[in-house]
Amino acid sequence: MSLLSALLGCLLMFPFQPVFTAERIPPQVEARMRGSSYPEEGTPEIRLEDLRYLRLSYYDFNGVPQTGEMVCNAAIAQDLLEIFRSLYEAQYPIRSIRLVDDFGGSDDASMLADNTSCFNFRPVPGQRHLSRHALGMAVDVNPYENPYLDRAGVIRPPEAAAYADRSRDFPHKIDRQDLCCRLFLAHGFTWGGSWAHSKDWQHFQK
Ligand SMILES: [Zn+2]
Repeated sequence: MSLLSALLGCLLMFPFQPVFTAERIPPQVEARMRGSSYPEEGTPEIRLEDLRYLRLSYYDFNGVPQTGEMVCNAAIAQDLLEIFRSLYEAQYPIRSIRLVDDFGGSDDASMLADNTSCFNFRPVPGQRHLSRHALGMAVDVNPYENPYLDRAGVIRPPEAAAYADRSRDFPHKIDRQDLCCRLFLAHGFTWGGSWAHSKDWQHFQK
C-alpha cells in the first residue's frame, strides 16, 4: 500500500472531531502570551488565573473544518463555547481563530489577516483607556470584512476600507440578521455595529 492510500485510509477511519474545550492557561500558552498579549510582569487589571484557554472548531472560508485557539475571560468562557458550537453546527464560515500572539501581539496584524480573536491587553486604538479585549471580555469576528470605523472616521484595518460601506452586500458581512450577531446578542453581548459614535462591526463585548 502506498503512503498516500495509507494516509487516505487514516482520514476515512478518523473523520474530523470537533473540539470545544476551556481550561486554565497551560504553561506553554502562558509562555506564548507573556511579553505579547499579556505583560511580562503581569498586571493588576487581569490575572492569568481569570483567563481561559479555549479550543474551538469552526469551518474556514473553504468549508473545511479546523480547530482554533482563543483566550478569553473565565466569565464568558461558557458563552463562547456555546456560541462557537452553534456556529460550527451551522457551518458558519470563519477565516481563522488564532491567538493574537501568533501575530506578535499586534491587533492590526491580526485584523489584516482577518483573524478572529478575543484577549489582548491593550488600550482602545487611538485612546488611552483599556479595551474590553484587555479583560478578555470582547471578541472580534472576521475583522477584515467587518472593520472598525472610529469616531475620527479612521478605518481599521485601513486596507479594508471598501468593507466600511455597509450599504453593499458581500460575503461574511455581519449585520443584525447574521447568525453570529444573533447568537452573541442572545448571550447578552452588545454589538459594536450598533454603537452611536463609532462602528465596530467585528466586535462583540460583555
Ligand atoms: Zn474588538
